[in-house]
Amino acid sequence: MCQVEEEYHEQLERVDRLSLSQKCMKCKEEPAVVVVRAGDAYCRSCFRESFIHKFRAMLGKTRVIFPGEKVLLAVSGGPSSCSMLRQVQEGVGHNAHKKLRFLPGIVHIDEGGALGQSIEIRRKKTSDLQQMFRSTGFPFYIVPLEQVLDLPGSVLVAPSAPSDRPDSAYKAAVDLFLQSGGGSDPAGPRQENGQESLLDVHESRTRLLEQLMDSVQTQTAKLDLLNTLRQHLLVHTARNHGYSKLMLGDSCTRLAVRLLTSISLGRGAQLAQDTGFSDCRYGDVVAVRPMREYSAKEIAFYNHLFKVPTVAVPNLETKTSDKSSIQRLTESFVTKLQTDFPSTVSTIYRTGEKLQTACRFSSASEDSDRCLLCLSSLEPGAEEASALQATLLSERLSQTRGPLSSVPVEPEPAPVGRCCSSGHCGGADGNAGCCSSPTGPQVAGMRSLLCYSCQRTVRDMSSVHHLPPYILSEAHRRQKRSAMREQISQFLLDGAEEHD
Ligand SMILES: [Zn+2]
Ligand SMILES: [Zn+2]
Repeated sequence: MCQVEEEYHEQLERVDRLSLSQKCMKCKEEPAVVVVRAGDAYCRSCFRESFIHKFRAMLGKTRVIFPGEKVLLAVSGGPSSCSMLRQVQEGVGHNAHKKLRFLPGIVHIDEGGALGQSIEIRRKKTSDLQQMFRSTGFPFYIVPLEQVLDLPGSVLVAPSAPSDRPDSAYKAAVDLFLQSGGGSDPAGPRQENGQESLLDVHESRTRLLEQLMDSVQTQTAKLDLLNTLRQHLLVHTARNHGYSKLMLGDSCTRLAVRLLTSISLGRGAQLAQDTGFSDCRYGDVVAVRPMREYSAKEIAFYNHLFKVPTVAVPNLETKTSDKSSIQRLTESFVTKLQTDFPSTVSTIYRTGEKLQTACRFSSASEDSDRCLLCLSSLEPGAEEASALQATLLSERLSQTRGPLSSVPVEPEPAPVGRCCSSGHCGGADGNAGCCSSPTGPQVAGMRSLLCYSCQRTVRDMSSVHHLPPYILSEAHRRQKRSAMREQISQFLLDGAEEHD
């Protein structure tokens, strides 16, 4: 999947030979076969034990997943998510020492349609995955990315927040689960099994998806958009089948890359949600990342030693040059640095740890306070010193083409609640391409609904009309509502239009 993992694979054999003379640092008896970090040499069984322990400790410590809860594992076929699947398989098994008490399911998004793969190749890949998933006995869903074109607008509206459940609630849930005999039945109530065995996609849908991807002009924006759409589809699939947790296989290496990428893309405000253990922005479906303390190297060792199957599924980044996108460039930067300075990833990761905030989901906030695409909150107060303000200012400066002193004292180009700088959309000043035009929202009109980073992505599109209908109609709905709020604002009492 990513270069980092492939390179470790080559190292495997070498390390195997090198460390034969060393003893395991844990049991101090067996010869070491794995050196995870300098000085951390393990024998086979101690490595396995510590690997498994880390997974369960992560879930135990965070107490986010409740006993009996339905948890959907997002499996791409890559090393990290397949390793996660193995951990869950072992954890819910009959003879697991510290049993995992949730009900797992699997989802795989087939992105072949966005990569221009033929349907035959896509079917071959998904049948390999199907075989792997079937052997787990968990229900599974293989979903083509094309389904993103048919999502309902509700995906963009985070419904009721999960109530803040205190620690005592977790303990009570464990007791209840054990009393009800939940511990004896490994998979709990039998769930319906996965559908969509053969990839069933209409050619016309694939063409629409291709048009959408083609309309994005830079690789950076393509990756960002694909990421957003995949996330929407994952959340929708989870919701649709009654799963309240979505388990993602992001490793510490991947998160270190994402952290730096997020900063480069101006997603600083979303950093904690993008890289933390849990992500509550979708309200009733909470994403969790239990693999976040494993390095790609550790995972590669584990998969190699314990024969964890993976399915090589190419993605947009496969076989692209280092400089094709900000994401790829960051990855290659981190990988190269890691080679000479082995603590690079853990240093970035630890720094990211400090940014974590408690999962905060305020159900009081309206949809219009959230970014239309990534659903991160658009906090008006936080904008003052943000990348967004910096860009707006520099745009204004560059428009004037004059010395600094001639900065016009104009209203903001796209203040929240308006769709264009004229303030009255579709006004007499010939502002045709505005949000009230019959063709629907335009890039300029959509701007106020997006966070800084998503604005950049949308700006790299030749036309927003290729976006899936659920996004366009939700954009339209929000624009209409804010226009209406604007119209009636003079009849409202002071502060009445504020909704905090
Ligand atoms: Zn040992
Ligand atoms: Zn956004």
